[in-house]
Amino acid sequence: MDSLICGATTRSGMPCRGRVVAGGKRCRLHGGLSTGPLTPLGRLRCAENMRRVRINGPGPGHRKTDKARRRRETRARREKMWPKRQERKRLQAMRWAQKQRLKAGLPLLTEAELENFKNSHSSSTPWPGASSAF
Ligand SMILES: [Zn+2]
Repeated sequence: MDSLICGATTRSGMPCRGRVVAGGKRCRLHGGLSTGPLTPLGRLRCAENMRRVRINGPGPGHRKTDKARRRRETRARREKMWPKRQERKRLQAMRWAQKQRLKAGLPLLTEAELENFKNSHSSSTPWPGASSAF
C-alpha cells in the first residue's frame, strides 16, 4: 500500500495517477497537503482559535459579520432619516389586514378597532376643536 501513485477515484471513475506528496498518501489534489497542526504548540493554537470563534464569532474583517453589521447600520440610519417610514409601514399593514378581512367577508374593522373608534369620537362635538371655535 506504499505506492507513489495517488490512486484516489477521480470523477471519471479512474484511479488518479498523480504522484503522492512527501509524507502523505495522496497527490496534492486529493488531500495530500495539510495534515493539521502537529506540534503541541500548533495544536494548542488551533484549539484556542476554535474556542475564540465559537464564543465571539468570527472577528472583524470576516465577510459575513461585516455584511450583517453593515445591514444593521444602514437600517438604523434609514429609520433615523425617515421616521415617517415606520408610520407608513404600520398603515400599510393595517390596510393589508383590512383587505384580507374584506376578502374573507368579515367587517372591515375588528371589534377592538371599532371600540377604539367609538371612544375617540364620543365627544359631543362632531369634530375635535369645534367647542372652542363656538
Ligand atoms: Zn490524486
